[in-house]
Amino acid sequence: MTRTRCTDRVVGAILASWRYDISGISPEMRKDYEQHFVECARCKARQKFHRSLDGTLAVLTFLSAIFFLFALAVLKHVKPMEHMAFKTFGLDIEDTYHMLFSAGIAGLCFSLIALTLVLLATPAPSYLGGLASKRARRLERRLPAAIRSMRPR
Ligand SMILES: [Zn+2]
Repeated sequence: MTRTRCTDRVVGAILASWRYDISGISPEMRKDYEQHFVECARCKARQKFHRSLDGTLAVLTFLSAIFFLFALAVLKHVKPMEHMAFKTFGLDIEDTYHMLFSAGIAGLCFSLIALTLVLLATPAPSYLGGLASKRARRLERRLPAAIRSMRPR
């Protein structure tokens, strides 16, 4: 993060209260703030930081949901695990299975709720979408001209 000062404290404070997200306001109002982002290195850096934070949160909650889904799949299909639980902890197989399964379901629900909240409360979807399209454009530029011309515009 840059140590420089904000060029306009008032605008900087407003932007900070929005976590530097101006995607929710009307295009006419947005112009001034976009101008500030061009002029002010500090706010630009902060905006970048907050958007990468949102993106990271979205990715992490999504991965968490995937892992819980994977855990449920493992529970459904791997029988030796039940024996291990039975032998090492002296637990009842049925109880253990149900306990692990409920924990998996609860974890999956929790991560999906967390993911939904992140996607709703932050501009993460547009940030990740922007990243993806930037990657796609970069990739396209590297493609040989022959292949590029075959793609519909
Ligand atoms: Zn600023």
